[in-house]
Amino acid sequence: MSKDKSEYLINRKDNQYEVVIGLEVHAQVTSESKLFSTSSTKFGAEPNTQVSLVDAALPGMLPVINEYCVKQAIKTGIGLKAKINKRSVFDRKNYFYADLPQGYQISQFKDPIVGEGKVILDMPDGQKEVGIERLHLEQDAGKSIHDLDPKNTFVDLNRSGVALMEIVSKPDLRSPDEVNAYVKKLRSIMRYLGTCDGNMQEGSLRADVNVSVRKKGTKEFGTRCEIKNVNSIKFMQMAIEYEANRQVDLIEDGHSIDQETRLFDTKKNETRSMRSKEDAHDYRYFPDPDLLPLEVSDDFIEKLKLEIPELPDEKKKRFIEKFKLSPYEATILVSDNETSNYFENVIKKSDVKLATNWIIGELFAALNEKNLEITESPISAGNLSKLINLIKDGTISGKIAKTVFEHMMEGDKDPKKIVEEKGLKQESDPKALEALIDKVIDDNREKATEYKSGKVKLFGFFVGQVMKVSGGKANPQLVNEILKKKL
Ligand code: ADP
Ligand code: MG
Repeated sequence: MSKDKSEYLINRKDNQYEVVIGLEVHAQVTSESKLFSTSSTKFGAEPNTQVSLVDAALPGMLPVINEYCVKQAIKTGIGLKAKINKRSVFDRKNYFYADLPQGYQISQFKDPIVGEGKVILDMPDGQKEVGIERLHLEQDAGKSIHDLDPKNTFVDLNRSGVALMEIVSKPDLRSPDEVNAYVKKLRSIMRYLGTCDGNMQEGSLRADVNVSVRKKGTKEFGTRCEIKNVNSIKFMQMAIEYEANRQVDLIEDGHSIDQETRLFDTKKNETRSMRSKEDAHDYRYFPDPDLLPLEVSDDFIEKLKLEIPELPDEKKKRFIEKFKLSPYEATILVSDNETSNYFENVIKKSDVKLATNWIIGELFAALNEKNLEITESPISAGNLSKLINLIKDGTISGKIAKTVFEHMMEGDKDPKKIVEEKGLKQESDPKALEALIDKVIDDNREKATEYKSGKVKLFGFFVGQVMKVSGGKANPQLVNEILKKKL
């Protein structure tokens, strides 16, 4: 079998293997303070300025659970259509690391706060359901910095104790594309809920990626390798492709797969063995004696349910039913709350079909080019709806609208003013158009004769000439009508 790394398993035509993937996503809980202390969680602070005595694990300090983080985890569970466990337990996961002053991480092992749930993916060939195994709360560790000094390692404890939700999927994913859709959907749900900002550059969303391969049609799963702490969707996809190939090559050469923890080297685009897979018993998990089991009442959960906003799946359904959008359009427009809000603001006062096309087409392309988010759009929803109305009522043509749009992208200007200032108003006065058309026919006598003697293709030429002479402002429909009569 070829060892060419550019020739990925997933693309191999004779591919007889299937890749099986399960993700453990670590999502930082949106909260001003940490899981068991009142220190700030603000990103980008000077090292070690957001560390309380609890986070530094000084003797005698006791953790106190942050109720807000518990609420955030339960809300996320509700968003994942998952079972909320009214009783959960915090355990100590024991290991040594320089950035873990306690010598253990407080996590949840046997009794997580959230049980089984699901996430629906919109794939090109239909919907796919991915099972959620569990969601538990745990502390983040600090950060060891190895590259600031040739001899020393520095430790920054700002992250120490920050609340994370570990969301464990079932091994239901089958391709890098599904992983892409899964992480995006998960992030979208959490952003709608306001429980995790999903900012991957800042490390708010990372994943351990479990990969195995098996011959298609096999019932049993293969042995998995776990690729630790991957912090971008692109890297997850590259790591899976590399890892799946590596495993197929090993199997084809008659070897077996060792269950390992691996690292993805983003520069070399390959995974490397880090250590053999640790087992749960290696960590000597036991219930943290400093914390009582966490118990929540039905009433507590019911109140949180009332705070759950309309989530992407429901919004998509509403957009399709109420606004007659295609599933494709709806999927794009509900992908984040800001985009769907923008869309709903535009259509408050303008045509839905035109609004959809302008947002998905022109606006997204322009924002993309300038690397802007929808919330940073130079064109407000109000002004885009004004532009759409100018097209709808015939003041400007769709073509001129693109010019106006470009001016709007330069700054948030009222399209009506742009049309006036630049004299872009569509010419719809039949008298004025007739005069133009007469002149064009006059200037092109020979072609007009050819047209009359049957060369009907020339009609387009005349339309083009009239549009040109009018500077693109002639109402194309009227031009067509009048030209037909005159020729
Ligand atoms: P651990 O912390 O030991 O890695 P978890 O239960 O937290 O165990 O996570 C295991 C992850 O590995 C889950 O996301 C699960 O879906 C995935 N997984 C389990 N078996 C396989 C397999 N054979 N191939 C790929 N992924 C797997
Ligand atoms: Mg794991």
